[in-house]
Amino acid sequence: MTHIAVLGSTNMDLVAFVAKAPQRGETVTGREFRTIPGGKGANQAIAAARAGATVSMIGAVGNDAAGTRLRETLEHSGVDTDFLRTVEGPSGTAHIVVDDEGGNSIVVVPGANGTVDHLSPGDEGLIASADTLLLQLEIPLAAVVAGAAAAHRHGVRTILTPSPVQPLPPELLAATDLLVPNQYEAITLTGRTDPREAATALLELVPRAVVTLGATGCLYVSRDAEPLVVPAPRVEAVDTTGAGDTFTGALAVALAEEKPVREALSWAAAAASLSVERAGASASMPYRPEIDARFT
Ligand code: ATP
Repeated sequence: MTHIAVLGSTNMDLVAFVAKAPQRGETVTGREFRTIPGGKGANQAIAAARAGATVSMIGAVGNDAAGTRLRETLEHSGVDTDFLRTVEGPSGTAHIVVDDEGGNSIVVVPGANGTVDHLSPGDEGLIASADTLLLQLEIPLAAVVAGAAAAHRHGVRTILTPSPVQPLPPELLAATDLLVPNQYEAITLTGRTDPREAATALLELVPRAVVTLGATGCLYVSRDAEPLVVPAPRVEAVDTTGAGDTFTGALAVALAEEKPVREALSWAAAAASLSVERAGASASMPYRPEIDARFT
């Protein structure tokens, strides 16, 4: 089995569904409330574990009920949480208001994720033992840089999701093997408006990139190979939340298994297409037999 390490966030999403979001100073009555385990780090870890890898999560939860549930959710999908620390204080939370038009506003309070600003003892050893390290930007940048540099030192592949999008420091770019932005992030990072041009411009930053294009599929570019356009399977979309994390988690597994790049991208697109057919973020992520069945 391949071994994927994930250094990133765990969040409890606190979601209120309302007809119309409140203005400043206004109080409205909501229709429904749900707590949904998430965070891009945890989501990618669950996606990779369900796709068939041994996965270790590095990060932190708070010593609150949300922290207990976040840990249990990861373990339920087979993710190893020995390197997920429990720290004093609240877990990370995302306070989300979803209105009847599907629009949302979100306040993220980092909580325990904010304490992950360095590698803890043992983290580097774990990273060194992995085939791939998955990184996102929902924990302090200093830890992302340290994690990527550690992976690089040990010859471990690094895959970075640049979300939430922000300027990427040179030392992080130098230690990134594959960047996986969505279209918006690719455009923001490069200042180009056309996704193809943006993808090409990303090669000035990193050796390889995959720009995800929603229902259209994805675009792969590399400094040493021709670009590839890989379509997404056509499906009835119910909820696209977490599609990007499903794609990236599955892609990491496929590449670690040394599938050829086009096949790895198609397999990841099959996984993501299954997740959009069902409601939820991590709850909708497919298990390997389902991915294989859709892929063939
Ligand atoms: P999200 O924030 O919703 O998790 P994202 O913005 O990070 O997603 P997208 O580019 O929207 O990323 O989607 C990632 C991948 O998921 C796409 O490359 C595609 O393979 C798959 N996907 C997304 N939406 C659809 C859809 N409607 N039908 C089929 N596949 C989809």
